[in-house]
Amino acid sequence: MKNSNKLFMQAKKYIPGGVNSPVRAFSSVGKNPFFIKEAKGQYLVDEDDNKYIDFIGSWGAQILGHSDKRIIKEITRVIHSGITYGAPCKNEVMLAKKITEIYPSIDKVRMVSSGTEATMSAIRLARGFTKKDKVIKFDGCYHGHGDSFLIRAGSGATTFGTPNSLGVTKANAKDTISLPYNDIKQVQKSIERNNIACIIIEPIAGNMNFIRAQKMFINKLRVLCNQNKIILIFDEVMTGLRVAKGGAQSLYNIQPDLTTLGKVLGGGLPVGAFGGRKDIMDNLAPTGGVYQAGTLSGNPVAMAAGLKTLEIISQPKYFKELSKKTKYFTSEINRVSKKHHVNISADSQGGMFGIYFTKKQVTNYNDIVNTDENKFISFFQYMLKHGIYFAPSMFEAGFISSSHTKKNIDYTIKIFERWVKEIYLSID
Ligand SMILES: *Cc1c(COP(=O)(O)O)cnc(C)c1O
Repeated sequence: MKNSNKLFMQAKKYIPGGVNSPVRAFSSVGKNPFFIKEAKGQYLVDEDDNKYIDFIGSWGAQILGHSDKRIIKEITRVIHSGITYGAPCKNEVMLAKKITEIYPSIDKVRMVSSGTEATMSAIRLARGFTKKDKVIKFDGCYHGHGDSFLIRAGSGATTFGTPNSLGVTKANAKDTISLPYNDIKQVQKSIERNNIACIIIEPIAGNMNFIRAQKMFINKLRVLCNQNKIILIFDEVMTGLRVAKGGAQSLYNIQPDLTTLGKVLGGGLPVGAFGGRKDIMDNLAPTGGVYQAGTLSGNPVAMAAGLKTLEIISQPKYFKELSKKTKYFTSEINRVSKKHHVNISADSQGGMFGIYFTKKQVTNYNDIVNTDENKFISFFQYMLKHGIYFAPSMFEAGFISSSHTKKNIDYTIKIFERWVKEIYLSID
């Protein structure tokens, strides 16, 4: 770790905390971060030439694996005609059309440059459309770092114990209501008492580990939103194009009014999008009164990377094979855990998974808070020492790409079993 440590010292001098996104700092797992020199397929190589099997994939974005040749070729081809125009181009139209074909709930879509922008814009649109102010979100769901969302947000905000960020005004916080995930009674009560513009939810949560919304809960949300003229927003920045091509909404068979996308959508370049019902989307400027804009939005290179990615993951067996591989991984974790009678389990959907350090079935944020952090940290460090990189926080989901091989998974399971036998049982 010599070179990484040296870089981290420097980084801390010039960048707050040495990182450009908090969870990268590794402080919650008692380590310094490694600095990446190169990423190819399912592997990362750090500045000290350590090689890791990567189970994060840039937080899910790299569904094909890193540096996919087809994406690189496409970006290289397109970039010769210009990098950004700040003016319309054909690739934007093609990607927008493609998104509406994959997502029946989306009639029209607007491109942005991050997931944060997508969710921020989506709630502004919902407020503008309904002429109401209040937003319901759920404890442990993360919707980017917009002011309205940093109320009991998952992921980094939780890992670092500052769920309510400094700098978010009281006025802002008062318009966000955060409720327990999978608890429809609380939603019902809140709707009776407040004038709600929209409900935003990760239909499969990936920022408090991996937690599924219960089918009844999602169905009831849809009904309540219809009855009370509330806009239902599915934040599928992580799950869209990842748990299934059509996102979690295709699995639950529920059409939200608005959907936010990101991560996989950009094929590794900074792309987000929000879209939905035409009558809502047409309220955006220039046709409507809700303002939203972006200098680099819809740039031809990012659009090309997105288009190519969608083309590849649209191949007939793509998701079937990715799901099968991820299921194999989680079922092996479950098999080993059962065999050794340890309180660890795993679940997955498409190319996304969760590993839980508890014997309880997890249904909400509190269940994750109450999992065994010491065991997780020990697991994380042991795996990393053996060249396997999981997210440095028990509040994050994990990701498998189409580059991961059975051999990678079998090796990971072998090391996991060794950790269970050598370490877990001795600290239990
Ligand atoms: C990652 C994520 C975001 C934020 O996206 P950024 O591109 O990091 O701004 C929003 N919502 C969900 C569900 C996410 O997973």
